[in-house]
Amino acid sequence: MFSIKTSKGSVSFNRFVGPFINNKFHPTLASTPVKRQILNPCTEDLIETVQEASAEDVDLAVQSAQAALKGPWKHFSGKKRRNALLDIAHALEKNLWKMTVLEAACGKPLEEAKFDIEESIECFRYFAGHADKISGSNFATEGGHKSYTVRKPVGICGLITSFNYPLNLAAWKIAPALACGNAVILKPAPQTPLSSLMLGELIAEHTELPAGVFSVLPGGEDVGSAIVSHKGIHKVSFTGSGNVGRKVMGGAANSNLKSVILELGGKSPLIVFKDADLDQAVEDVFGAIFSNMGQNCCAGSRLFLESGIEDEFLSKLKDRVKQVKIGDTLDEAYDFGTMVDRVQFERVMGFIENAKKEGKSKLLVGGNRHGEKGYFIEPTVFTDVDETSTLAKDEIFGPVLSVMKPFKTIEEALERANATPYGLASGVWTKDLSKSEQCIQELETGVTWVNCYNMCSVHLPFGGVKQSGFGKDLGAEAMGEYLTVKAVTIRV
Ligand code: NAD
Repeated sequence: MFSIKTSKGSVSFNRFVGPFINNKFHPTLASTPVKRQILNPCTEDLIETVQEASAEDVDLAVQSAQAALKGPWKHFSGKKRRNALLDIAHALEKNLWKMTVLEAACGKPLEEAKFDIEESIECFRYFAGHADKISGSNFATEGGHKSYTVRKPVGICGLITSFNYPLNLAAWKIAPALACGNAVILKPAPQTPLSSLMLGELIAEHTELPAGVFSVLPGGEDVGSAIVSHKGIHKVSFTGSGNVGRKVMGGAANSNLKSVILELGGKSPLIVFKDADLDQAVEDVFGAIFSNMGQNCCAGSRLFLESGIEDEFLSKLKDRVKQVKIGDTLDEAYDFGTMVDRVQFERVMGFIENAKKEGKSKLLVGGNRHGEKGYFIEPTVFTDVDETSTLAKDEIFGPVLSVMKPFKTIEEALERANATPYGLASGVWTKDLSKSEQCIQELETGVTWVNCYNMCSVHLPFGGVKQSGFGKDLGAEAMGEYLTVKAVTIRV
């Protein structure tokens, strides 16, 4: 057992011996096992040591998945898959507090952690609803031939996720993949494997999913690349950085040409017009950049304000920033947590220090480490940011907002907002329908939110354009990612 202390008492968990394969945990097959210490980023104390998987474990997971696909899983009807997904949702709901604590122990405030688990539950329920409704198309019989399409599971799917929403990002991929009848091999981020491993435990205990259908392989780059280059795996759905995304695409191409979904980073623009409800916009902009301490692929990290509102807006934003309560995320008293680990902390502090030296912006608020222990960084706002600066161009993936120089016309705002290789999300605040419509049409992003932000819903497809990736998580579109389509023609 290992325990995590919270302000409401201590919570105990079973130890995870190693990778989860064949519906049980087993020690890694590696001859020299790699052990990773999972630290609480608020206190830097050890939570648990996890034995990472190896290339041999990837082979074993693939063999188990192949056996399941040829055996019991092949005969699992849509109705049974639906019920299995509902059982997962139910098991998560019964363990909501435990799962919340595991996520909060990654440096995420308890309230945000609970929301993420609730969203994961919702995701399993939503795709349960799809599992028994998979259908093809029927065409009119012509020239003595009848044609129709048949949709079948892709096969074995490798799911590789980033650290920022550990269970939720995994659920976005696991739920549609299983709904479609695939077997999945999940590799969570090395910093945050605990909730994914616990999902394995819940699946083994509370569902009828056959052994081999769901594996969890904790580990880092080695395990990730072994999954990507494995010839027995048919698809990889990846969430992470652009640099690693490129390696994933290359590995997929150089092995068996498996198809890939890439959900990558962003440098999302926020555009606030003069006519917007400014108080609402301030609150939304605050959430857009500072939720999850800025470790959010959609983080609205470039703010464009219409000329004339900048003084009022920035003064309100500064007041809002000063209200945050930074501290131990396992204590309900705090609402702002940490970077996930020392590496991310040093990366983000590096951007801040560099911006201070670069002199291409002015510091409005924040800009420092908070406290002396843990990886806390104050919510930070730079203003008058020059478009050529690192602050304006690079994904920081931390609590740092770049307020760009004010804009005068909608055309100027759109051109500057689109001047990035990224294309994940964007936000617009205005009461003018024609302005919002022009922005929706012209912003080069996979998602646009108007008078709100970060409103991801399970029924809406999520994913980027340009160098933020391709393919969709969520929505009916995600089902299409995990199915093949066969065209059939019969002479009648
Ligand atoms: P990362 O790219 O460093 O790692 C992502 C995952 O890839 C991890 O599980 C890692 O172990 C694995 N990995 C590393 N090297 C690999 C390799 N050679 N082959 C296969 N897998 C490998 O990203 P991160 O630091 O965990 O997450 C931050 C990034 O993720 C940011 O760029 C962020 O914008 C992005 N992100 C995107 C979305 C989205 O939906 N678009 C969501 C969340 C995060």
